[in-house]
This record gives sequence, C-alpha cells and structure tokens, in this order.
Amino acid sequence: MSQTLTETQPRAAETATVEHWIDGASVAGDSDRSGPVYNPALGVEQKRVRFASTEDVDLAVQAAARAFPAWRDTSIAKRQQVMFAFRELLNARTGELAAILTSEHGKVTSDAAGEIARGLEVVELACAMPGYTKGEYSENVSTGIDVYTTRQPVGVVGIISPFNFPAMVPLWFFPLAIATGNTVVLKPSEKDPSAAVWLAKLMQEAGLPDGVLNVVHGDKVAVDALLHHPIVRSISFVGSTPIAQYIYSTATANGKRVQALGGAKNHMLVLPDADLDLAADAAVNAGFGSAGERCMAISAVLAVDSIADEFVAKVAERMSRLKIGDGTRGCDMGPLITREHRDKVAGYLDVAATDGAAVVVDGRDPEVDGEPDGFWLGPTLVDKVPTSSAVYRDEIFGPVLSVVRVDGYEDGLDLINSSRYGNGTAIFTNDGGAARRFQREVTVGMVGINVPIPVPVAYHSFGGWKDSLFGDAKAYGPRGFDFFTQEKAITSRWLDPSHGGLNLGFPQHD
Ligand code: NAD
Repeated sequence: MSQTLTETQPRAAETATVEHWIDGASVAGDSDRSGPVYNPALGVEQKRVRFASTEDVDLAVQAAARAFPAWRDTSIAKRQQVMFAFRELLNARTGELAAILTSEHGKVTSDAAGEIARGLEVVELACAMPGYTKGEYSENVSTGIDVYTTRQPVGVVGIISPFNFPAMVPLWFFPLAIATGNTVVLKPSEKDPSAAVWLAKLMQEAGLPDGVLNVVHGDKVAVDALLHHPIVRSISFVGSTPIAQYIYSTATANGKRVQALGGAKNHMLVLPDADLDLAADAAVNAGFGSAGERCMAISAVLAVDSIADEFVAKVAERMSRLKIGDGTRGCDMGPLITREHRDKVAGYLDVAATDGAAVVVDGRDPEVDGEPDGFWLGPTLVDKVPTSSAVYRDEIFGPVLSVVRVDGYEDGLDLINSSRYGNGTAIFTNDGGAARRFQREVTVGMVGINVPIPVPVAYHSFGGWKDSLFGDAKAYGPRGFDFFTQEKAITSRWLDPSHGGLNLGFPQHD
C-alpha cells in the first residue's frame, strides 16, 4: 500500500461531511464519491457521507489486522473493563446519540432512546463475556491424557448494517466481537452514518486501543471490498433479503463465516377469543412505531372473520389519535427515511385500490407537526387485502398495516407458514392451547404470544427462519458468542514414561 492515513482537520467547509474512522482517527480516504445524508423531517440534505474505495476499505482492514494481536492478547479482565466503561458512557450520553438518530433517520426521540436501550443490553451482555466463552475440560480421557477446549477470536471481522437501526444493529455485533478479542471494520448504512462514528469515538473514550474498531462508509463498492478481502474472517450482515442472500453466497464462497439477516413480513394472528383492545393497541404500536421501518414491525394482521369488523374499527380509532411530525417535537411517528422510499410506500395504496382492497385510513395527506418538505406518510390501514396482492406479499417497510380476513386458526397458520419470510410473528388469544399449538407449528424464528414485537432479550439470540436469515448463525446471545469465537480442542499428556514407544495405529484409549 502506497497510501497513508490522512487525518482530516475539521474546517468549516467540511463540517458537513461524515468521514471514515480508521485507526482511531477521522480519515477522508482517496475516493471522490459521496452520498447525501438527509434530515427526513425537514426534507433537506444536511451532510454528505464519504463512499469508500476498495483502497479505503483496505486501509481499515489493515489497521484492524495490525491491532489484532495485541487486542487478542489483552487479558479478559482488561477487555471487560473497556466494555464496562463503554456501557457507563453510553448510558450517560444516550440523549446525544438519540438526537443523532432522530436527525438522520427521523424516528421520534423516545423511539431513538428505546433503540439505544436495546443496544445497551448487548453491551451489558458483552461485559458477561467470560461466562459465555469458557472452555470445557475432561480429565483423564485416556490414562494420563486430558482434553480441553478454548474459544479464541476469529480475527478481523466485518459488520454491515441497515438504515433502520443505525445504533442498535451495530451494537448487536461489535460489543460481542470486541469483547471476545476480535478487531472490527464496520460499514453502516450510508443513509444515516453518523451514529456508527459516534459509537466508535465513544469506544475510544472508553479505552479501546486504536484500530480495534474502524468505520468505513459507502455503498456496494465498500461492501464488496469487505466480502472479498482475504484478511476479513467473518461477515455480520443485517438488511434486505436480496442483499442478505448476496452477502451470504459471496462471503461463504470466499471462505468466511457469515451471519446474514434479511427482510421480513411479520403477521399477527387475532383469534376471536383475544382481548381485542389489547390486540388493537398492539397492532397500532407494532405497525406504526418507527413509521413501520422495523424488521419486526407487524405489517399483516390476520383477523378471523367473526371479529374482523370490530377489530378494524378499534385499530382505525386508535390511528386517528396518533400525532405525526418532527421527532423532536414529542410526536408519535416521524417521517420515512427518503423521499424515494416515501413515494414507493405510498405507491402501494394505488396497488391496494387496483387489487380490490379497502383503504380504511389513507395516510397520503397527513396532518403534520413539522416542515412541509419532510418525507411524510401518515399511518395507513388497508382491509380485505387479497393474499395475491403485492400489498400483502411485499415487505413494504412503511406505515401501512394490511388486514387479511381468515376463517380461523388453520387458515391463518397456513398463510404465515407459506410466507417466504419467517422473522417474527404474534398470536393474540386467550386460549392457551391455541397459543401452544401456534408456538410449535409456526415456521417463524421469533414468536410472540400476546406480544407484538418479540425481539428476544440480549441473552437469547435473535434471528428469523426462511428468507429472513441465510445460514444458521443468529445475532447476539449465546449464538453471537459462538460466531465471534472459534473453538480449539487440546489433547494433552505430560510426560509419562509408561506411554513411550512406537504405534502407527489410530489413537485409541486405554
Ligand atoms: P439494504 O439491504 O438496502 O442495505 C443494508 C446494507 O447493505 C447497507 O449497509 C447498504 O449500504 C448495503 N447494500 C445495499 N445495497 C447493496 C448492494 N447491492 N450490494 C452490497 N451491499 C449493499 O437494507 P436497508 O434498506 O438499509 O434496511 C432495511 C432492510 O433491512 C429491511 O428489509 C429490513 O427488514 C431489514 N432488516 C432486517 C433485520 C433483521 O434482523 N432481520 C433488522 C433490521 C433490518
């Protein structure tokens, strides 16, 4: 590499550019490509973000590779201390990060704080790393021979994250990766990149050595550079299904271990004996929180015919009480991430009409507490959606709740199980037997029983089934520790003269 790191001096003209973070410093890199970062509530471009070249990514990977041996050999106690310090700092400065999230993503400040709280859970889990990465020991497996295992870091790991959780998804991965002794190159979404840099700087403040956590920004060029880099040993990806599939096939073909979490279309089944007020609250909260831009959002409600009219009326009434607007103004729901995405989501209302669905609440002209140019789309409710319609089949990723009417439990279960996605699902019922059948029979990775967004706590692992996760590596929890460590089995015998002599046969026990 002839290129050297060039630390960017903050000058007035450059304050609006989000730089890479490599080896503990801001780096402009050698690419002249960049992208816009909007404030979605204002509808204006507020910053530019650098798009890394392949060489820029290589700089970050080389920094991570240089930092690896010393970090790997840093004692567990010292690595833990960094995570404890990071936890304290993040807790104390949640408001600062939440403001960044609201400004670049648009989610309302209370929701941004909630995202950080769920990320903090994983930081706390990372502090508990020693208990999850202990080896096993078998004494005297053969006369005078012991076998034991250790879990060691894999090396330089790559993390690629989506726009909808700019803090939480990076926090799903890098605390566990770093606590277990790996070094990291993180490529956050180019749509809201500042949170990742903020977190990396906070890790430095917490005592993390330079080069252990690096952040590069960009698009497919940066992602491909990570997928093909021979030094990068693993890839952790969260994003849409087509990209997750691409990441999985490309990175595994390059010999890397991969976590690849994809998109979703989450169903909520409402049985006639459910508490309809609880179910309606849940549908509205899980459908419109974060403007529906959550991988665990409820986007299709399967309502049994006998209660469907009453249920739809309850949902519509609750929707009329939601306040839409700038996330800094105490609203319930903010804007969508970009104008293009807003228009794409709004386009599903035309599809709904063409396909014969009933638009009960049309969010295209919402009353907004915010600037007129923001990327607004109000909460939208579509009833009697045919299952052949793209409104039902596609992951819309916006504030559109579809109601599909079903005959009963079996009909609802069949629909959920025939979906290509299997991230999250929920059943609302007061019948324990039905709930128990559902938990056993549904082909979805995360199931809620009278709980609409069943995101597991940090000490259980997160991951869907079918096209919502490629491979079998889930995020965080025990599976997360497994992913970021490799097991080594050691068979040892200390000198015992009685075991000398030649024997070319396969080792056996005595
Ligand atoms: P996305 O797939 O467009 O982007 C995710 C990441 O991949 C970004 O860093 C992006 O820069 C990169 N990327 C985009 N296009 C690429 C390409 N052609 N080649 C290589 N890299 C590329 O996803 P998004 O729009 O940022 O996020 C929303 C999606 O993420 C939704 O589908 C949502 O369901 C999913 N998601 C899933 C989970 C989960 O846990 N399963 C969690 C959050 C979000």
